[in-house]
Amino acid sequence: MKFENSLAFARKLDKEDALKEYRKLFFIPKVNGKPAIYLCGNSLGLQPKAVEKELKLELKDWKNLGVEGHVYAKRPWLYYHHLFSKPMANIVGAKADEVVVMNQLTVNLNLLLISFYQPRGKRTKILIQANEFPSDYYAMEQQIKLHGLKPKDCLLEVTPRKGEATLRTEDILQTIEKYKNELALVMFSGVNYYTGQFFDLQKIAAAAQKHHITVGLDLAHAIGNVPLKLHDWGVDFATWCSYKYLNSGPGGVSGIYVHRKHGRNPQLPRLAGWWGIEEQTRFEMPKNFVPQSGAAGWQLSNAPILSMAAHKASLDIFDKVGMKALRKKSEHLTAYLEFLLKQHPQKDFRIITPARKEERGCQLSIQTLRNGRSLFDRLTKAGVIADWRKPDVIRVAPVPLYNTFEEVFRFAELLR
Ligand SMILES: *Cc1c(COP(=O)(O)O)cnc(C)c1O
Repeated sequence: MKFENSLAFARKLDKEDALKEYRKLFFIPKVNGKPAIYLCGNSLGLQPKAVEKELKLELKDWKNLGVEGHVYAKRPWLYYHHLFSKPMANIVGAKADEVVVMNQLTVNLNLLLISFYQPRGKRTKILIQANEFPSDYYAMEQQIKLHGLKPKDCLLEVTPRKGEATLRTEDILQTIEKYKNELALVMFSGVNYYTGQFFDLQKIAAAAQKHHITVGLDLAHAIGNVPLKLHDWGVDFATWCSYKYLNSGPGGVSGIYVHRKHGRNPQLPRLAGWWGIEEQTRFEMPKNFVPQSGAAGWQLSNAPILSMAAHKASLDIFDKVGMKALRKKSEHLTAYLEFLLKQHPQKDFRIITPARKEERGCQLSIQTLRNGRSLFDRLTKAGVIADWRKPDVIRVAPVPLYNTFEEVFRFAELLR
C-alpha cells in the first residue's frame, strides 16, 4: 500500500482497521487530562477493562468460600492454570501440554537452565546475542558458576559487524558451526529488547540441532508480538513474561514451554515442588517426587490466582483476535510509523530496527544523533509515553491491539 503523510490518511487507515474495536477494551492512560500517546506496550502493556471483573470474581470466591475455593470457586484454583494451556499454546505455537503458566520470567529462566544447561567435557559454552537483557546475563553467569565454571570462558556472544546495530543471521549460523563442539546451549532472545530485532529462530534452532546443541529462548519481547512455532521449530525450551505485550499487569505471571520430548522424560534434572507432581496424588502427599508429564512437571508452588485472573482477562482477548490478525495489523502499523519517520530529514535520528518485516515486531528503536535525552523529555511533556534507553535510543512500540494510525501520525509530527 502507498502511504500518505497526512492526518486524514491516518484516520482513513483507522476507519478501515479490522481490529479498531479492540482499543475500547483497554484503559488508555492520561497525561494532563488527555489520553496519552502510549507507545510503551513493549515495557508494560495496558490494562484490559475486563481485569477488574476477573479479579473481583476471585476476591468474591475467596471472601465467601475461603479454602474451599480451591475446589468450589467458579474457576477452581487447583486447576486454574489449565485455563491457559490452549490459549498460550496458540500464541507460542506449541501443544497444550508443552506450556504452563507459573512464576516470573527470571525465576523460570533459572529453573530451565538447571534442566537444560548441562555442560559436559568440551561442551560448556552458551551462545548468546550481544546486548542481551541484563537479567538474563546474571542468570546465566550464576548458572555457569554453579557448575564450577567461569562465565568468561563459557559465555560466547555474537556481536554486530562494525558500523552495524543488529546481527546478521549468517553470522549467528556461522558462529554455531564454528563452535559446534564447544556449545552446550544456544540461548537467544526471540526479539532483542534494545534494537527490536526479531531473529530467524527456525534457522537458528535448525543449525544448533544439527549438532545436538540445546536451544532455549527468552520470549519476553516476542510473545504476543510476533508469530512463533516453537514445537515445529523443535525449540527445546522457552520462557516469557506476561506484562509486556500480553497486558497482564505489573509483575504478571510468567510461563514456560518445554518440548514434548523433554516433558515426557522424568529423568531430566530439575528443581521440584509439590505442584509438579500428578494432580490426583498431590493431597496424598507422597514422599517421592515423580514429576507429572509435560511442562506442568516444572511447577513448584501453588498458583498466584490473583495474578492469573488478570492474565485470563488478557488472554481472552488474544484468543478472540488470534496472532494472525494481530500480526497483520502490526506490520501495517509499524510500516506506517517507519514511513512517517522517514519523511523527516535523517540528521537527528536513525532507525536501528531492521527494515524487513520478517526481522522485527512492532517496536522501532530510534537512535538519536544529538540532544536525544532532551528530545525525549519534550516528547514526554507533549503527552507521549515511550521509553528511553541509554545511551541514545528511544524505543516506540505501536501495539496493534490498542494503538491507532492517528496516534502514530501524531507521534511522528511531535518528533518532527
Ligand atoms: C523484560 C525482560 C526481563 C524481565 O525479567 P523479570 O524476571 O520478568 O523481571 C528479562 N529478560 C528479558 C529479555 C526481558 O525483556
